[in-house]
Amino acid sequence: MAVVALVVPAAAGAPSAAAEPMRAEVLRLESVSKVYGTGAATVRALDAVGFTVDQGEFVAVMGPSGSGKSTLMNIIGCLDAPTDGRYWFGGEDVSRMGERQLAHVRNRRIGFVFQQFHLLPAMPAWRNVELPLLYRTARDRKGAALRALAQVGLADRVDHRPSELSGGQQQRVAIARALVTDPDLILADEPTGNLDSASSREVLGILRQLNVGGRTVVLITHDPNVAAVPRRVVTMADGRLRAEAA
Ligand code: ADP
Ligand code: MG
Repeated sequence: MAVVALVVPAAAGAPSAAAEPMRAEVLRLESVSKVYGTGAATVRALDAVGFTVDQGEFVAVMGPSGSGKSTLMNIIGCLDAPTDGRYWFGGEDVSRMGERQLAHVRNRRIGFVFQQFHLLPAMPAWRNVELPLLYRTARDRKGAALRALAQVGLADRVDHRPSELSGGQQQRVAIARALVTDPDLILADEPTGNLDSASSREVLGILRQLNVGGRTVVLITHDPNVAAVPRRVVTMADGRLRAEAA
């Protein structure tokens, strides 16, 4: 399991959690907004969103198409910057991170799973899973890829190319690729969107098992049936996060 930095809200401008006990906080957004375009073409895709995820949580962010889910995911994943508000990942202010540190967070601390699997068609499963490790001098890259594939139940498919795998199996390869760096957070955007119902259940079962094993998972979905799987659900509408059900 990865070690997540503890947040110590002591410094000026740090998250306003002084009264709460110290805990392992993976991420915190405070009043985050995202505005695209200018003038008549302006879209406020996120509007003053506050959101905190602690280590070991399994959270669904649910909302209809256009509600701002992918925009939120891009900000959480350090792929895009907010227009307004503050974002801390592992207790660090993301707005203060340089390009190298952002690349480090994206490559090692967050595992991304997308609706489209984004597998490279010419490479066998284990090579696809090894990809995030190629950006650093990790030893035993193939061993790590094979272990990640075994975790998603594909030990017997490591040499298959994506075209030789079912949709559900391809998404499991994508989950293995997200896992191979031992990230602090698995961030999945509509991970079942391309799948039939049996494959969806399988993929959700794997995400749940990873969470039971201690992994922090944020799952973004439009589908109430998918959102029913995680223990915590937050709903989005028109760029806002609604209050959470207890
Ligand atoms: P969801 O993932 O919930 O379907 P998105 O985050 O993709 O929603 O989009 C939220 C809103 O922001 C939509 O109205 C969309 O048209 C708009 N939007 C998303 N990305 C861009 C962009 N790069 N430029 C302009 N508008 C965008
Ligand atoms: Mg989306």
